[in-house]
Amino acid sequence: MKRIFALLGIVLALVVSGCAGLQNTSAGAGRTLDIYFLDMMGGASTLIVTPLGESVLIDTGSLEPKHRDAERMYKACMDADLTQIDYLVTTHFDTDHYGGILEMSKRIPIKHFIDNDTPPKDVRKRQSFKKLNPLYKQATKRRTKLLRAGEDIPLKNDPTGKIAAIRLHCVASQKRLEAFAGDIDAPVEGFEMAKPDTSNNAHSIALVLTYGDFKFFAGGDITLNVEHHLAHPVNRIGKVDLYQVTHHGLDRSNNTILLKALSPTVAVAMNGPRKGIQPRTFAALNALPSLKAIYQIHYNTQYGEKGNPPPQFIANKDNPTKGQYIKAAVNPKQGSFTVQIGPDGKKRRFTIQ
Ligand SMILES: [Zn+2]
Repeated sequence: MKRIFALLGIVLALVVSGCAGLQNTSAGAGRTLDIYFLDMMGGASTLIVTPLGESVLIDTGSLEPKHRDAERMYKACMDADLTQIDYLVTTHFDTDHYGGILEMSKRIPIKHFIDNDTPPKDVRKRQSFKKLNPLYKQATKRRTKLLRAGEDIPLKNDPTGKIAAIRLHCVASQKRLEAFAGDIDAPVEGFEMAKPDTSNNAHSIALVLTYGDFKFFAGGDITLNVEHHLAHPVNRIGKVDLYQVTHHGLDRSNNTILLKALSPTVAVAMNGPRKGIQPRTFAALNALPSLKAIYQIHYNTQYGEKGNPPPQFIANKDNPTKGQYIKAAVNPKQGSFTVQIGPDGKKRRFTIQ
């Protein structure tokens, strides 16, 4: 009997020490805020994992080829030790941003679904929407919430205040901005505005993530006129440390006025081999005095050095099917963040502005 009690004692001690280990992890002691930019071959998916272990997946890549993007998203979740996605955000209903959602929902539990609600009429008529919309409904079970400009995604904060404050804020959605009643496409004196954009892209959700002094902007595929009003006459976002290059680096987005207002230190482009970064955007980013590095998911086969950083900043250059992600890890206490390619890539350190 004594031996049984002794054994029970050992088991109990192991359980307690195991729980203590878990508590350390969930309390976020020494943990970074991690952002994974996933290779969706010209689509988009960004995984955010907070120091408290909460997760946000922004967009879910494409449906075809079968399961590729879902597998890549799932692998990143495994690398990040996740057992669920807390918030899944669909910035807009284009095939390269929500095609992988059903397959992803089969691989990992998803707690909350957030989107920009019904897409514009011309999109609802498209064959691709008629094909994907039922899969979206199957994945979400219609439990979706519209995210409006000015609203937050309610991430947990550390009640003791030991971990810096974290906030995920929506600055644009449905072609609307917070406290802006005007017409996004109306002429603005002194500026050449783009033609009115009635597409899905202009209606994208755009998010700002802050963690202590660190700031990250992920604007989905918003286009020039929405970007203009985010930067002018008031800089609604402020300077950012990390910039997810909007709309895969295409020139119909990435308004120079906004790029200057954001003044990012590092830009990461979710491009494809034949999709972005286009030369005007690439040149505008490189002209920013603040910019220290541009990272790209793929080598851009169209524009040579007018659309590509040096090879060490490209995640999938020689093997375009490798599916390597780019990861940023943020530590406001050290006043810096690192960026690396893949789970074992060389970490480059950048100072938080
Ligand atoms: Zn897109």
